[in-house]
Amino acid sequence: MLRVGLTGGIGSGKSTVAKALSALGAVVVDADAVAREVVEPGMPALSAIRERFGDAVFDPEGALDRPALGRVVFTDPSALADLEGITHPAIWKRTAELMNAVPANAVVVHDMPLIVEKDMGADYHLVIVVGTDEEERLARLVRERGMTPEDAQSRIDAQADDEARRAAADIWLDNNGSLERLDAEVRRIWAERLEPFNENLIHGIR
Ligand code: ATP
Repeated sequence: MLRVGLTGGIGSGKSTVAKALSALGAVVVDADAVAREVVEPGMPALSAIRERFGDAVFDPEGALDRPALGRVVFTDPSALADLEGITHPAIWKRTAELMNAVPANAVVVHDMPLIVEKDMGADYHLVIVVGTDEEERLARLVRERGMTPEDAQSRIDAQADDEARRAAADIWLDNNGSLERLDAEVRRIWAERLEPFNENLIHGIR
């Protein structure tokens, strides 16, 4: 299995790249989806959150009220540490399950926003960073996601900068151009760097 970490700043185009790699044959594990899954109704982490934070962070239907929880942990580092103490083990366990279910000759792509911030580069054979200039990301977040420029900027500022991302990148995937150009770049990277690994495995070289 070739373990690929896919990262980049908010709005850089990670999900778009993950989708293109999936269409080419990679197995994608989406870190945001796993983080949502472990706090779905009935999951043990959800009961633990209710015990620690109370009903105020739940909506009337009993689902997690993410904005309310976000407001609690945003200003209180010890609350954030408690929340992460509950969710992180569940996230890692589920991620490991999904990764271990991948066939040995597959390319698995972990779409994970915080590889650089959490210094996780060594967990992967290759780290692909989607690199998009800050002004372009800001414009996309406002245009495509309906964020206010202030909200988009504060989210960008809360993450690692491109210098740190460049240092962690085995492959820097520039996404300042069109979606067509991005697709062509992804195909090139797949053909040159990812698919050969697959074939080597199949032919028993690795
Ligand atoms: P997040 O960090 O929030 O998960 P992301 O890095 O996964 O974001 P995407 O969701 O892939 O980013 O892209 C953000 C938005 O920008 C999407 O609406 C996407 O369609 C658009 N986008 C991505 N790349 C391009 C491009 N080259 N040209 C125009 N729009 C693009």
